[in-house]
Amino acid sequence: MSEFTGPDFYQKNFDPKAYLAMYYPLEGGTVHEHLQFVLKRLARIFSSGKVKGETIIDIGTGPTIYQLLSACEAFNNVIVSDFTDKNREELKAWLINQPGAFDWSPVVKYVCQLEGNRISWTEKEDRLRKAIKQVLRCDVMQNNPLSPVVLPQVDCILSCLCLEGACKDVEAYVTALKNITNLLKPGGYLVLTGVLGSHYYMVGEVWFSGLFLTEDIIKESLSGIGYIVENFETSAKQFWKEVSGFSDFFVLFARRSA
Ligand code: SAH
Repeated sequence: MSEFTGPDFYQKNFDPKAYLAMYYPLEGGTVHEHLQFVLKRLARIFSSGKVKGETIIDIGTGPTIYQLLSACEAFNNVIVSDFTDKNREELKAWLINQPGAFDWSPVVKYVCQLEGNRISWTEKEDRLRKAIKQVLRCDVMQNNPLSPVVLPQVDCILSCLCLEGACKDVEAYVTALKNITNLLKPGGYLVLTGVLGSHYYMVGEVWFSGLFLTEDIIKESLSGIGYIVENFETSAKQFWKEVSGFSDFFVLFARRSA
């Protein structure tokens, strides 16, 4: 059993540029199948009319914005958050369109297409940039993950590929879920994406631990803390075989009991 790589390890060793290059290779303008799977589900969830409101918080945003492109159609206020300084800086670089910021345009174009090309991809980028109101530090292991910032409970929480890395065991996973639920209004939605059967993943040359989860563990964890899981979809892994050990991707949404 290899060691758990905790938050301090992330702060020191998680290189956003290496992560983006490895997991979001967009040269040539192609969006790989995993991303397509997730983007299609997110587009469906956020256009359903069910998951909407004023404010959404993305937990463990990392250096990525793909997960927010459909969310910003259903929420005017988007709050993003991550534990590491470098990830928040990389995200801010994209927000202000700084030279050298990651080019998400193939993904933005793909999502516009999914949503019926109602607006151009540049309008979509503007919309998301305007919707993101705050970039906050976050630690899912704290009772209030956004401490010292205190926010009123919001309508929706999103978290993508974060908890598998942030939690050392299933007990910590349940605690982290409870902690992020403290930010959510009763009756609000949690949208979670991640991987099943995880062992590890690489970022550049650096090894990070991944928590082994199954569909049952996730569903039991959520129902145990008062969620009704309304949808859970998986897709077998086809990519990243060399750089990460896991079996499937999943996307779920669940409603916090009122
Ligand atoms: N959401 C992005 C990034 C996932 S990578 C994506 O979908 O690709 C995992 C992220 O979890 C990293 O950005 C890392 O900094 C963050 N993370 C790790 N431990 C955390 C913790 N304790 N609290 C909040 N975020 C954490």
